[in-house]
Amino acid sequence: MKQVDLLYSGKAKSVYRTDDPGVYIMKFRDDITAFDGGKKDTLGGKGRYNAEVSSFFFRYLEENGIKTHYLSSVDPTAIAVRSLTMIPLEVIVRNVAAGSIVRNYPFREGEVLDPAVIVIDYKSDAHHDPMLNDDLIYALGLATPEELDQIKAMALAVNIVLSEYLAARGITLVDFKLEFGKTNDEIVVGDEISMDSMRLWDKETGASLDKDVYRFNKGDVMETYAGVAKRILSPPGEESA
Ligand code: 5GP
Repeated sequence: MKQVDLLYSGKAKSVYRTDDPGVYIMKFRDDITAFDGGKKDTLGGKGRYNAEVSSFFFRYLEENGIKTHYLSSVDPTAIAVRSLTMIPLEVIVRNVAAGSIVRNYPFREGEVLDPAVIVIDYKSDAHHDPMLNDDLIYALGLATPEELDQIKAMALAVNIVLSEYLAARGITLVDFKLEFGKTNDEIVVGDEISMDSMRLWDKETGASLDKDVYRFNKGDVMETYAGVAKRILSPPGEESA
């Protein structure tokens, strides 16, 4: 399989076609952005941490029976993925109130949300990712009721698998964003699952271990990404070894 031309370049990742039409290469760049692109930087090494963590979580989800686009690791910053027709939804699962749900609704930061709350935004830079509801999703033709039910069920299944995995490593999965795509009419998890798309809090200290460190200048972003990647990739209790 050989990388051919650039298909798409987003804020932090680039997707390349390959000589196999069923396979794309997703490259995690060192770029980091926040606030709808209003804050931007390039942090050397960041792409590698997000690629490692995403690859690991995709493999772990597959082992747990959840279909993803992941095929293989290409190099430390790139993965081979199945080519998908992406569904332009940002499916956010929230276990603890933080971020926009606290800004927009009367939740207290840190309030546990049980059962988990699913929020779905329209992935559209031009429209600034507005929140959708089921009727808007059908009216816009973004998914059928059956597809939306499947997407929500898959998002909740991912939540259970990842929450348990992270809890064993002393990390609370506060919330995360998934994107889905279709291949041969099968819906699979696409995009990335990384520190850029999750909110992670240390269970003991409550410290942010994710992109909030960058968004709100809470500390050294690269130190945080390196530390949390090590914790995620190590067996429980061995991350400081
Ligand atoms: P919030 O709605 O509170 O800003 O974000 C909720 C969760 O979804 C956070 O973990 C955040 O990182 C993730 N998220 C929301 N929108 C985006 C987005 O456009 N890109 C990425 N990478 N993550 C997002």
